[in-house]
Amino acid sequence: MEWTRSETLALAHQQCAHCHGLGLLLGRKSHWSPCNCVLRSVFRACYARFRRCVEKEKHLSHVTLHLMGGKNQRRSWGRKDEEYIADFTLMSKRHLDEAEYQIFKFHFLLGADWKLCCRRLNMERGNFFHAVYRIQQKLGRAFRETKPYGLFPLDEYFNTLSRRETQPRMLELANDPRRNTLSFPVTTRLDKAA
Ligand SMILES: [Zn+2]
Repeated sequence: MEWTRSETLALAHQQCAHCHGLGLLLGRKSHWSPCNCVLRSVFRACYARFRRCVEKEKHLSHVTLHLMGGKNQRRSWGRKDEEYIADFTLMSKRHLDEAEYQIFKFHFLLGADWKLCCRRLNMERGNFFHAVYRIQQKLGRAFRETKPYGLFPLDEYFNTLSRRETQPRMLELANDPRRNTLSFPVTTRLDKAA
């Protein structure tokens, strides 16, 4: 997929030594690719939204009506926050290898700081932070580039599906057996995992 400068400019780190705040790097065959600072920025935005969804009181979670797109402009009811929590965790597990997922789980899902993670995973501090950067970059790319339903941009994920043309999301997810493993509140799940 194409990344545009108008998109990466807003996400890039202004002091980035690699892209100098532009967010794009010229790769082989004159192909523009996103800088790692942009990918980490995408991850941080998605992770912050994940935290908000998980920490939100259950009674604040709404059932909302979503436009499903297509010729008929159908609509469907769904719990968008819960759907996002499930998508975030499933997509992360799918794109990380086992060692990376362990770090992701302890640090990002369970909230352990680097000292606790290093002790638990028997890692050096430097190696831990390198792995965290790698995880953020990998997932940032996955959240943005996964077709047809990426998590980023978040406003598109939460507000409208009308630009997407394939089968309705809720129907697709309802038929996905992996969804069943997340049918109970994630907060409970994380407590148990801790
Ligand atoms: Zn950069």
